[in-house]
Amino acid sequence: KPSGLWSGIFSRADVVVSSARRYKSQYRRLLTGVNESTGSLEDGVAILNSKHEIIWFNPAASRLLALDPAGDIGQRLDNLVRSPDLVRELTDSRGDTITILAPQDQARQLSLRIIPYEDRQSLAIVRDVTHQMKLERMRRDFVANASHELRSPLTVISGYLDALADADDLPDSWKVPIGETQRQAERMTRILSDLLELMRLESAEGRAEASPVDVCAMLELIEKEFAVRPQFPRLSLDLDAGLLLLGSESELHSVFYNLINNAVRFTPPDGKVHVCWEVENDGAIFVVEDTGIGIPEEDLPRITERFYRVDRGRSRDTGGTGLGLAIVKHALQRHDSTLAIESRVGQGSAFRCQFP
Ligand code: ADP
Repeated sequence: KPSGLWSGIFSRADVVVSSARRYKSQYRRLLTGVNESTGSLEDGVAILNSKHEIIWFNPAASRLLALDPAGDIGQRLDNLVRSPDLVRELTDSRGDTITILAPQDQARQLSLRIIPYEDRQSLAIVRDVTHQMKLERMRRDFVANASHELRSPLTVISGYLDALADADDLPDSWKVPIGETQRQAERMTRILSDLLELMRLESAEGRAEASPVDVCAMLELIEKEFAVRPQFPRLSLDLDAGLLLLGSESELHSVFYNLINNAVRFTPPDGKVHVCWEVENDGAIFVVEDTGIGIPEEDLPRITERFYRVDRGRSRDTGGTGLGLAIVKHALQRHDSTLAIESRVGQGSAFRCQFP
């Protein structure tokens, strides 16, 4: 039996060994708990190292992404799940939720999100969203079909109204109500066509077509359209001639037209609206700045929601549908761009779109 100095060392070692044993069994219990709880999760979870190789995944991830627990540890996730969006998420870590088709069942849609954490590791969270997507598609189809169905009767009503308004024998007392009915019918037509456009953008998948668009020519045409209307403030342009953008001509026209239209509608006639299109940070930037009424800070986060308006009456009276910014947001998404808004009540607003 050791004595003296050795006895002290051995009893210390005993303490260390038994506490290590205790920690080990604590860790084992913790690990079992983690395995059991992640095993019962409906969402798939996978841990990736800095090279995007899988170091662990739960049973749901194995089921959804067809991962083999025996063979796929150590494999890169983007080698097992083929998707350009996934590759982009892994390299850029933008934190966006992407939708992919299930590797073993192309009829199922999965949402996938990569969440980076310390040491450049990341967590991949995957969920089956097939049912949700189906409901979403039904909602869009319903709104699009309803808008489409309403359009034909409205065309007939507008036609008769126009004929009535032009009739020589129209009694004076009818002129005001018929004029107002015409304006309301026009408003309804605008709402329906904006709804159809929004539904079309929402259901279009992926990126917009990429043909070269002459943005300067487009902006000059839009400027001319507004210049002839005296109720609007003066528009000034600052354009980088020859700076083309790859995208969809009609969608980009929608973006620029809606933003400029808003700026002139929410700025008094003696105010200013400045439009700028130029190169910035390896890309191009489009900015519309106005000296208009501005947007209260608390409304800013909701301003791009469908039918969200700070002042419903003012929006309506100036010919708004409440859908313009929702259309802008969706069209920009399809051009890898986002809308940044700065605004001060009573001083004006700036809407910026940065294109890669
Ligand atoms: P609307 O048809 O009402 O303009 P939008 O979706 O285009 O619908 O805009 C939503 C709301 O955002 C507007 O009703 C208005 O309250 C506010 N808004 C948009 N652009 C501007 C702007 N340039 N200045 C002030 N308010 C704005």
